[in-house]
Amino acid sequence: MNITWKEQAAASAVRPLSGKVSLVTGSTSGIGLGIARALAQAGSTVVLNGLGTASEIEGIRQQISGEFGVEVGTSAADMTKPEAIAEMIATTVGEHRRLDILVNNAGIQYVAPLDRFPVEKWDAILSINLSSAFHTIRLALPMMRQNKFGRIINIASAHGLVASPFKAAYVAAKHGIIGLTKVAALETAQEGITCNAICPGYVYTPLVEAQIDSQAKAHGVSREEVIRDVLLAQQPNKRFASVEELGALTVFLASDAAASITGVALPVDGGWTAH
Ligand code: NAD
Repeated sequence: MNITWKEQAAASAVRPLSGKVSLVTGSTSGIGLGIARALAQAGSTVVLNGLGTASEIEGIRQQISGEFGVEVGTSAADMTKPEAIAEMIATTVGEHRRLDILVNNAGIQYVAPLDRFPVEKWDAILSINLSSAFHTIRLALPMMRQNKFGRIINIASAHGLVASPFKAAYVAAKHGIIGLTKVAALETAQEGITCNAICPGYVYTPLVEAQIDSQAKAHGVSREEVIRDVLLAQQPNKRFASVEELGALTVFLASDAAASITGVALPVDGGWTAH
């Protein structure tokens, strides 16, 4: 059947990432899952990664594949382990023959005063929230360079731009990933590859849900007070951002329209970092 150029244009407007292969770390939950869904909706093959039981992850895989009609793979790689990360990238490229869009999203949080911050929590946060992105980027670059196309999107945080007390490791890792973003952007600027960071304020996900309870205990106040006076205290629009908003921005940054945007750290924080 012949299709007209108009039909072709309409199809590529709906599925702008058709033919692309995306890998999203930490995509079994929260923001990563929202981003994986948005990339699949835009037509990309998606490789999921993250913690969870085999049956939970298989359920997510089938759900996304069925809903959006794209190929969906999975990797159980632990982002604290460079060898597992290397295997994840090699398997993605081996099974799907390309890697176009890399979203470094896996992350954890821990809240404690600096002089009582557990050393093992510092090490875990630095390795999952920062070093894993160094490994995925260094390992994905050869394939992106070969294709003269790549989109690297690092999910940093408003805490990559400003600090809050009790979050030493998280703030250090998120400031670090913005630095890594700029270096990757500069080193790839002439090769059809872009690297950007997205800096969300508070987004309602399981990570935030866990913080509501721990902050309520730390401050001795109710959940509602934590949401209004602690979490959203700095967020002028007084609402959580949604995973769908972050998914849509990721799809845009992955698109041809964003070819000249590289090395930036884009706040999605309701005005927080405008203070
Ligand atoms: P989440 O807890 O819902 O999801 C985290 C994901 O990372 C999960 O899929 C989990 O399985 C995965 N993960 C954790 N440890 C891992 C490991 N060792 N190996 C592989 N995967 C691992 O959290 P979220 O709120 O969706 O956060 C996602 C990212 O967004 C994080 O980098 C976080 O710092 C960032 N962020 C979140 C918010 C927010 O308000 N939720 C704000 C700014 C930035």
